[in-house]
Amino acid sequence: MSLICDSTLAASGSALSGSQSKTKQTARIVVIGAGAAGIATATRLLEVGFKNVLVLEAENRVGGRVNTISFADNVVDLGAQWCHGEVGNPIYQRVKDLNMLEVTDDAYESFKCVRSNRQVLDDRTANVMKKIAWDSIPERQKELTEFEGSLGTYLTEKFWREMEKSPQVDRTVAREFLDNFKKFESSVEAADNLFEVSGRGHLEYWMCEGELLLNWRDKGFKTFLNHLLCASADSADDLGILNGRVQLNKRIAHINWQGDGELILRCWNGEVLTADHVICTVSLGVLKEQHKQLFSPALPPAKCRAIDGLKLGTVDKFYLEFSKPLLPEDWKGISFLWLDKDLEELRGTELFWLESVFGFYGVSYQPRILQGWTIGEHARYMETLTEEQVLQGLLWLLRKFLEFEVPPPKRFLRTQWYANPNFRGSYSFRSTYTDELRTGAWDLEAPLLDVGGKPRLQFAGEASHKHFYSTVHGAVESGWREAERLNSYYRARTATL
Ligand SMILES: Cc1cc2nc3c(=O)[nH]c(=O)nc-3n(C[C@H](O)[C@H](O)[C@H](O)COP(=O)(O)OP(=O)(O)OC[C@H]3O[C@@H](n4cnc5c(N)ncnc54)[C@H](O)[C@@H]3O)c2cc1C
Repeated sequence: MSLICDSTLAASGSALSGSQSKTKQTARIVVIGAGAAGIATATRLLEVGFKNVLVLEAENRVGGRVNTISFADNVVDLGAQWCHGEVGNPIYQRVKDLNMLEVTDDAYESFKCVRSNRQVLDDRTANVMKKIAWDSIPERQKELTEFEGSLGTYLTEKFWREMEKSPQVDRTVAREFLDNFKKFESSVEAADNLFEVSGRGHLEYWMCEGELLLNWRDKGFKTFLNHLLCASADSADDLGILNGRVQLNKRIAHINWQGDGELILRCWNGEVLTADHVICTVSLGVLKEQHKQLFSPALPPAKCRAIDGLKLGTVDKFYLEFSKPLLPEDWKGISFLWLDKDLEELRGTELFWLESVFGFYGVSYQPRILQGWTIGEHARYMETLTEEQVLQGLLWLLRKFLEFEVPPPKRFLRTQWYANPNFRGSYSFRSTYTDELRTGAWDLEAPLLDVGGKPRLQFAGEASHKHFYSTVHGAVESGWREAERLNSYYRARTATL
């Protein structure tokens, strides 16, 4: 086998032989993936004094599941969109004085509930049910601690218990609302349905107090990655402190971490690289699909259990740009409530996948666009259709529910997070199966060490965060965690030399 080393790595590799004699100056570190976790890892490694850091990214861009693109009047985020919470949120804490974030208006609270017979629920009725739904969020923090079942069971029981206090609300309408709310909540969890989400496991997630939907004004989430990189916002190619250290279109096909010498990485184009440390930040979806081929020797059983037991669901977005705002001025969004007979009919047609498109909502700084959401199995099916088929389906849906005219949009976009082999899903959650396997982020995060305790193969990424999984702040903290792990190892070694 011929070793073709990257020039940065090769230069340092020749400086010292024997990986135990490496220092922060000479240790060669490869970070796999340039999403939020990979960028956080690499920038922190450089900040603490490592010199030979290389990031390999399969896509032709950095950012991973943070992907801000130009659209309509400014930008849209195809992946992460909001900074969730303030207290204890490392992203918020880092940028809070920089005037980058803004509280999102109440599109996700004051939306209209529209039935499939075009009836718009009056605000009073809708608000009774919305209040039960929103109140359940803080209440579940207490009530789920002893709960054995799924989040779906908990929320369903709770909803009907609370509804007993509001006999004036029609039960059929309430059931339609609950169905919609469950889809909305499934999108928060990224679960196909709430009955697979662990009730207790749900509490592993720590909600940061403060505003839960902070947007990045008209700049998108990439603002934060640029901030981490110290990169210019005006140039898409500027990677700031990672300039010259990121190789795009470099998909890793194999990592040999055998023994305690250097690790050998093979890219899909056949190129081979070596390193002293590898920090893998690929998504849980990629690990699920590829870990058996990606690593040799095979990963230890506890790691495989975590990859199997933790779940990654599919959440996709749609963006429609109209010539002028589609919804009446006092409508912030619409949630779709299906009548039984209409749903039955829909299920018998080729548009069955529209059942999981639960609503369309306004977007901050983008008055002419509507953002739609879909989840789960139907989202994955939608991803296999052509863009035109998806658009025609969505127009049919909007026209079925809305009384006013819905013209074709000027431009349309949909995401395909599952179909993309570099992601294979949207974000992770804890399922009842995770409980059953008694696994969790702790198993995913655990580094693989050599006999002397040196980290050889480390894991970062949102799914490996014990409490902030599914978010960008979780991804970022996991990257900092692994950079710090390596830093501590070298600090301790230097102290004992
Ligand atoms: C639709 C959607 C909406 C979201 N909304 C929010 C939100 O509002 N707020 C929030 O905080 N979070 C949100 N998230 C979640 C958030 O985007 C993720 O948790 C976070 O970005 C994950 O970062 P990561 O670095 O762990 O993984 P990734 O971003 O997936 O980075 C991993 C990188 O590894 C690369 N890669 C994969 N395989 C290979 C390989 N073999 N070789 C080399 N490179 C490889 C990938 O291309 C990718 O760039 C959302 C996600 C989605 C999809």
